[in-house]
Order: sequence, then structure tokens, then C-alpha cells
Amino acid sequence: MSEKTVAGIVYECVRCGAKVPSEELELRGGEIKCIVCGYRILKKIKPPIVKRVPAE
Ligand SMILES: [Zn+2]
Repeated sequence: MSEKTVAGIVYECVRCGAKVPSEELELRGGEIKCIVCGYRILKKIKPPIVKRVPAE
């Protein structure tokens, strides 16, 4: 049994809105490029990881 840990960075294509994990980009040569439409402008978004942060 193995668990896959996602690095945590997710990009969103500004053109088609596809969510592209940095892991996927690495698999495709490390280029910042939408894996759906091929557009090269992606913005970084927060990963869908719920983290508990103690309120101060
Ligand atoms: Zn796209």
C-alpha cells in the first residue's frame, strides 16, 4: 500500500480554468503549461488541502 503525497502547488489556467498540479507539469517536462488547452499563463492557486491553523 502506498500513499501519494501531492507537492501542494496547483496552478489554474487563466484561459480554460483547468486545475493543473505542479506534479503534472513535472511529468510533462516541467514546463508551465496548461495540460488541457496548452495555454502558458497559469496562476498559482492554493492547494485543496485543509490545514488547521491555531488561531492566535
Ligand atoms: Zn487551459
